[in-house]
Amino acid sequence: MPLNLDKSRRLFERSSELIPGGVNSPVRAYRSVGGTPPFISRGSGARVWDVDGNEYVDHVCSWGPLLFGHAHPAVLEAVNEAAANGTSFGAPTESELLLAEAIRRCMPSMEKVRLVSSGTEATMSAVRLARGVTGREAVIKFNGCYHGHSDGFLVQAGSGATTLGSPDSPGVIPGTVAATLQVPFNDLAAVEETAARHGDTLAAVIVEPVAGNMGVIPPAPGFLEGLRALCDRHGALLIFDEVITGFRLGRDGAQGHYGVRPDLTTLGKIIGGGLPLGAFGGRAEVMDGLAPVGPVYQAGTLSGNPVAVAAGLAALQLIEGDDGLYRRLDQTTQALVAELEGAAREMGVPIRYQRVGSMFTHFFTAADRVTGYDDARACDLEAFRRYFGAMLERGVYLAPSAFEAAFVSAVHGQGDLERTVRAHRAALEGLAD
Ligand SMILES: *Cc1c(COP(=O)(O)O)cnc(C)c1O
Repeated sequence: MPLNLDKSRRLFERSSELIPGGVNSPVRAYRSVGGTPPFISRGSGARVWDVDGNEYVDHVCSWGPLLFGHAHPAVLEAVNEAAANGTSFGAPTESELLLAEAIRRCMPSMEKVRLVSSGTEATMSAVRLARGVTGREAVIKFNGCYHGHSDGFLVQAGSGATTLGSPDSPGVIPGTVAATLQVPFNDLAAVEETAARHGDTLAAVIVEPVAGNMGVIPPAPGFLEGLRALCDRHGALLIFDEVITGFRLGRDGAQGHYGVRPDLTTLGKIIGGGLPLGAFGGRAEVMDGLAPVGPVYQAGTLSGNPVAVAAGLAALQLIEGDDGLYRRLDQTTQALVAELEGAAREMGVPIRYQRVGSMFTHFFTAADRVTGYDDARACDLEAFRRYFGAMLERGVYLAPSAFEAAFVSAVHGQGDLERTVRAHRAALEGLAD
């Protein structure tokens, strides 16, 4: 029963003539899974509908932001009320203060906070600030971790121990990435070695504390603690990119989950309640390096936008008002993954599930562990592609790439998750043929 995607196909053809690839962010074009991306017309709770009327259980959740699903009434009310009072002023507002206070209450390491409009802006600005206040240039990042699309992060993934940055995209000049040092995720020895060579020029180490952009890969025991100690030893700043994990793994993000305090934290996705919003923050004396207090420049016409801030505040109020939220999310997702895993084992399809809280990835591999980018890339992409298509046909909307997280939201109910499990069993039967 192939999906009817006729309207989506026609829209995709028209879009492709006008918008490169037909999309405003490349993964949406379904290049790695094939086929036509459904054009989404609306969402409600844990479900989305496309323009042909197909209904899906949504495990993309707008790539992470929608912790409370689509069109949550409290978020809608906050957005409508804010919009009615004017959508942008480019001037300070009380709601920005309330959001900054809520962020600091949840994440005490963020003593001072600045709001921006995307995760990309947050990480780009945090690195600039780290370089500015330390007066150093080198930044260590990890293979397979994604920190947005600013030039300095578009470095080719190295194989082997460490790689001096070379551009991963035409248009990025070698000089821009020369000071970005690439190291394998979860390989503390490689970080030590790199830091030993570049220690006195090392401004920062930036890491997704739980990797989410090569599929979900938790930090090895001691990895984050090791990074903390190494940064202290070398006088470098530790930046946790919590754009996915912030408010996903708990009120205090991965830093609370693992008990490691970074110097700077970047946020995005959930913090905007589904609207474009990001934030970065950290130790007060570091943050005071920013203009107008300090010399490090950073600005934004729509930064702290009142409508986005209202949506973010509504999301944080839902989070702060529900003590059982993260325990429930963890239990629900654990039960879901156990069912998916059990079905795969029963049918003899080698899938390795990795989960932290309400984010998980099904790696199509017989390996018993995926610890870094090389492991993730060694998975069976063809099997994933077929699985993805079979799930979509059965009304389950997954990220169209093997290197992504699937999400469970607070509004995924029993009926939604049962549909996911049923589709999964049928999809695996198809794979076994
Ligand atoms: C999504 C993401 C970003 C980039 O955020 P945008 O809002 O897409 O610019 C940065 N870091 C991580 C860890 C992300 O998952």
